[in-house]
Amino acid sequence: MKRDYYEILGISRSATAAEIKRAYRKKAIEFHPDKNPGDKEAEEKFKEAAEAYEILSDPDKKARYDQYGHQAFEGPGGYGGAHHMDMEDIFAQFGDIFGDIFGGSFRSQNHSRSGRGQIIRGTDLRVRLKITLEDIIKGGEKKIKIKRKVKAPGTTYQTCHQCGGSGRVARVTNTIFGRMQTTGTCNVCGGTGQVLQSRGKGSDANGMIVKEDIVSINLPKGVRNGVQLRVGGKGNEAPGQNGIPGDLIVQLEELSDDKFKREGNNLHHDLYISIPEAVLGVDKILETPHGKIKLHLPEGTQSGKILRLKNKGVPDLDGYGYGDMLININIWVPKKLDKEQREFFEKNLNHPNFQPNPGKSEKSFFEKIHDMFS
Ligand SMILES: [Zn+2]
Repeated sequence: MKRDYYEILGISRSATAAEIKRAYRKKAIEFHPDKNPGDKEAEEKFKEAAEAYEILSDPDKKARYDQYGHQAFEGPGGYGGAHHMDMEDIFAQFGDIFGDIFGGSFRSQNHSRSGRGQIIRGTDLRVRLKITLEDIIKGGEKKIKIKRKVKAPGTTYQTCHQCGGSGRVARVTNTIFGRMQTTGTCNVCGGTGQVLQSRGKGSDANGMIVKEDIVSINLPKGVRNGVQLRVGGKGNEAPGQNGIPGDLIVQLEELSDDKFKREGNNLHHDLYISIPEAVLGVDKILETPHGKIKLHLPEGTQSGKILRLKNKGVPDLDGYGYGDMLININIWVPKKLDKEQREFFEKNLNHPNFQPNPGKSEKSFFEKIHDMFS
């Protein structure tokens, strides 16, 4: 047997709308699930009170109830009763009941937002770019082929039906005081305020396709391995009309050079000369990333000699000039001699001119290196 609605709320049949509201508020607080955790009886009473209020707060329903009792809402098309009313529906009433206590603040929050959803940024795209020593020294424009997500031609978006384009939706939490309303990101549109209207040909679930693109980047001089260059707006596009694309992040991968070894902003090169060249002196043309450089080696050039070419190294990334090029002289000793050559060396084996005599002027390799960097 269903209890009388007036009895449930503990009011007389002549109660005014304000009295009905006040009575329900009292019952709602008394039997609120937060206050009575796990108490099934309290939950039933809470639902009972909600149903009573649902009917008695509506002048039309109240009139029908007053005339026909519970029968007024039974049968096809009738009001289903408390057991068909879920907790969410009940809490939804609280905006009305507790609105004067809590309502003001959360309502204004909803209205203060403009109709536009959040701006969604596309993801960054990462690519590696191999660079040669020449690229590092000269810098300048490099073109990179990338594959990025873009909106497919024919993809259109429309305002999200769930949040009306605001990207935010009200969420209801039950607390001891009744319904507390907070706003959160709309889960239909993900906060963009827009949903897909039609998908372009060949596009994914978000209306996007992967497109090949050529991006030109300006390579600064003096970069090194691992340096990242960011190209704004050349990453993946974001779905929706408000979306802005992410960035393209280019990670530089420095290729090692066969001839020149980089050490900071200096370049090292091993130059091999023959014994006759070392003995007689020689002019050498060296191909470098700075172009051809002529080297003059005087007669009697010793192995291990280091030539320092000022400012022929790598430009400093921060603009502090250039490093140097250090040319380490190595004398190539032949492994094969013909009869005549062998006789020449044998004849001179003990000749004073061929005896090593480094002396003070012939510093060791390590001493020379030390001198150069001190
Ligand atoms: Zn939405």
